[in-house]
Amino acid sequence: MEYFVNVVLPIPLKRHFTYSITPAEASFLLPGMRVSVPFGKSKIYTALVLEVHNTPPVVYEAKEIDQILDDVPLVNPVQLKHWEWIANYYMCTMGEMMRSALPSAFLLESETLILRNDEANVDESQLQDDEFLVFEALQHQSSLKVHEVSIIVDRKNVLPVLNRLLEKNIIYLKEEVYEQYKPKLVKYVKLGKEYLSDEALESLLETLSRAPKQSQVVLALFQLQSGSKKPISVSDLEKYSKASKAVISSLVEKGILEEYFIRKDRVTYDGAENSEIKTLNEHQLNALADIKKAFKEDKVTLLKGVTSSGKTEVYVQLISDFLEKGKQILYLLPEIALTTQLISRLQDYFGERISVFHSKYNIQERVEVWNNVLKGAEKAQIVIGARSSLFLPFDNLGLIIVDEEHEGSFKQFDPAPRYHARDAAIVLANLHGANILLGSATPSIESYFNAKHGKYGYAEINRRFGNVLMPDMELVDYKEALRKKRVKGHFSERLLQEIEESLGNGEQIILFQNRRGFAPVLECLTCGHTPQCSNCDVTLTYHQYKNQLRCHYCGFHTALPESCAACGSPELDTKGFGTEQVEEEVKKLFPAAKVGRMDLDTTRGKHAYEKIITSFEQQELDILVGTQMLTKGLDFRNVSLVGVMNADSLLNFPDYRAHERTFQMLTQVAGRAGRTQKRGKVIIQSYNPYHQILKQVTTGDYETMFQEQIYEREQYKYPPVNRIIKITFKHKNYNTLNEASEWFSGALRTNFGGTVLGPEFPPISRIRNQYLKHVLVKIGKNESLGRTKKNIKRIEKSFNSVSKFRSVRVIYNVDHI
Ligand code: ADP
Ligand code: ZN
Ligand code: ZN
Repeated sequence: MEYFVNVVLPIPLKRHFTYSITPAEASFLLPGMRVSVPFGKSKIYTALVLEVHNTPPVVYEAKEIDQILDDVPLVNPVQLKHWEWIANYYMCTMGEMMRSALPSAFLLESETLILRNDEANVDESQLQDDEFLVFEALQHQSSLKVHEVSIIVDRKNVLPVLNRLLEKNIIYLKEEVYEQYKPKLVKYVKLGKEYLSDEALESLLETLSRAPKQSQVVLALFQLQSGSKKPISVSDLEKYSKASKAVISSLVEKGILEEYFIRKDRVTYDGAENSEIKTLNEHQLNALADIKKAFKEDKVTLLKGVTSSGKTEVYVQLISDFLEKGKQILYLLPEIALTTQLISRLQDYFGERISVFHSKYNIQERVEVWNNVLKGAEKAQIVIGARSSLFLPFDNLGLIIVDEEHEGSFKQFDPAPRYHARDAAIVLANLHGANILLGSATPSIESYFNAKHGKYGYAEINRRFGNVLMPDMELVDYKEALRKKRVKGHFSERLLQEIEESLGNGEQIILFQNRRGFAPVLECLTCGHTPQCSNCDVTLTYHQYKNQLRCHYCGFHTALPESCAACGSPELDTKGFGTEQVEEEVKKLFPAAKVGRMDLDTTRGKHAYEKIITSFEQQELDILVGTQMLTKGLDFRNVSLVGVMNADSLLNFPDYRAHERTFQMLTQVAGRAGRTQKRGKVIIQSYNPYHQILKQVTTGDYETMFQEQIYEREQYKYPPVNRIIKITFKHKNYNTLNEASEWFSGALRTNFGGTVLGPEFPPISRIRNQYLKHVLVKIGKNESLGRTKKNIKRIEKSFNSVSKFRSVRVIYNVDHI
């Protein structure tokens, strides 16, 4: 009998591939193990086994596998099912899914690897387009192979771009023939065997009496060891004895001390686990009871609790319940970088049982967490992670918590799989028979809709913990203030008064402006010309700090011109304003206040977020100016005032979710105010203070917001009432793009009954010299999403057989666009 395996390769080809194996291999191999296989002319790939069987492939002769790489499966059957669901639902391949899910260290190949140089200080704006693409890809994964680079830059010969990046010291190369992962070893010391008896030690100390430094080290080691069996690391000994490395090594040479190594997991927690779980108040207990009731009915459950109502403490209670049952727990967060606060809060309760998993972690750290989850290790019983932690090899998952479930960053836009982590988490929980809790102060319209219709369980907390009042919100009519000349810079007098008062009380202030840079538009007062990016279809943002015009889409930048490029007039003015300008104005208006800024420009370094958050926490700053980064789950104790500089830009965003998002963002940023006893104050400046969304924010009226939004979505056939798929076409040639998107949408219209809109250029129709066009497919309540996807895929096949369209990129986004 002949034996074969079906495997997935980490490449974006649709099918799986069949290889031949020996009977011995067939009896050993299990789905989820890795094998290396030859592919194409000379490549070797790591592949994942899906199935062992006896049916030879029909159209080609199966090659033999190269090697078996695992003794036990690295990926379990539930994961494979989950990945298949994602690939199918979000219209990508299993290969793309696998590449995204497995830490790259598991994808061993005998090919050159390109790694990012973490030491490099990269100025993105100095990079050419192709260099940037590679650099950007390396932000998402820590290594790339040559063939991937060639996909990314869309050309075969990639050596020139790699050479340039090497010269700039941004990447380095590695021939990877072995598994990359090396556990970190920590050096420990103990007393040599001969000195273990009391007499021996005594005589040793006597001999050392002439070498005070050495005897100091021995004594220190003795003291450190007394009362604990913990190993003593060399660095601890150094610190404690205040002796130099040299003294310690001379003792090692003499055999008085012995060195040894212990493998250390990289992601560790140094603090002590000390806090008792808090006793919940009556509102929290009611919510908990509702959640548990819904869990009993196996329902996805939504917890809607106002900011600072103590949702996190409810999660803690649930986590502790599931820990007791010996279950694994996954705590999903939208952005890990912003949540150091939360991690340390949970570590206080659960200490060593927490692992943190994030795609920004290096290969080693990710492999460690993966292996710990695979082994069911105690230290990975609770995993806190961003969306990629959904792909870990859980096999005993009991609970998933999706915190801040409304956050847009749960959706992955690039690269494929373009999935929504909340929705994929629901499917994962289902596959495991686990419970899942979605939590937010401002739930997404979809989740609340599902709760209302009884599809989800529901619990709520409508009061802040400790009877702290919700902040007092005030709308300021900015147009009116301008007319009455009651403004300074971009500050109304009302806001200035409040800032002054808070500063006077020694309290802190957050100023929110969802735009970075100094001003988004530079305009000639004579002819009206505004400088545009040469690669993208956007105006350049003025950054005063660097005295540059910069593109926020491609990093292009140029020195601030002294005169208009069109007419030569020197009279240039700025329009609109960003965080830089707010910072500058507030510094001038309150010269004694210490002001910090948190936006993409100030948080580039690895620990930059933490630094800003910590210095604000420590009250080294009085005022923090920032973008939406400020809105996410931060718990500052001394903030009494939040100022929203301009609410209008949020409302005017061209997206059917703009109103929902504005409500969420403003409510969340307002929620940073007055989290302790004193009532917080929020001032929202707007040209249009009578806008219904702003009213709903100030009165905390989620319900009316929801009703109005649902009505609109029904009217215009948007989710959650209908389903949507957005198809994006991307090409550097304008005409090709137009032709291709017309062809595709034409085929859709003839083949498919639902609503097909477009093709249309998006508001920014060219990015990095690639033109973009969108087609929107709306699928009504009574139409099948699955069938529609099949149709679209079929059309794509014939589309790809038209030779001039082959280079057009077709990108799908399902549900979340
Ligand atoms: P949310 O997650 O809803 O924004 P938090 O869980 O951060 O709210 O709670 C707000 C504050 O109240 C935190 O400082 C938290 O420690 C405190 N808190 C919440 N519940 C309790 C409780 N049951 N006992 C003591 N303090 C609590
Ligand atoms: Zn001009
Ligand atoms: Zn640009």
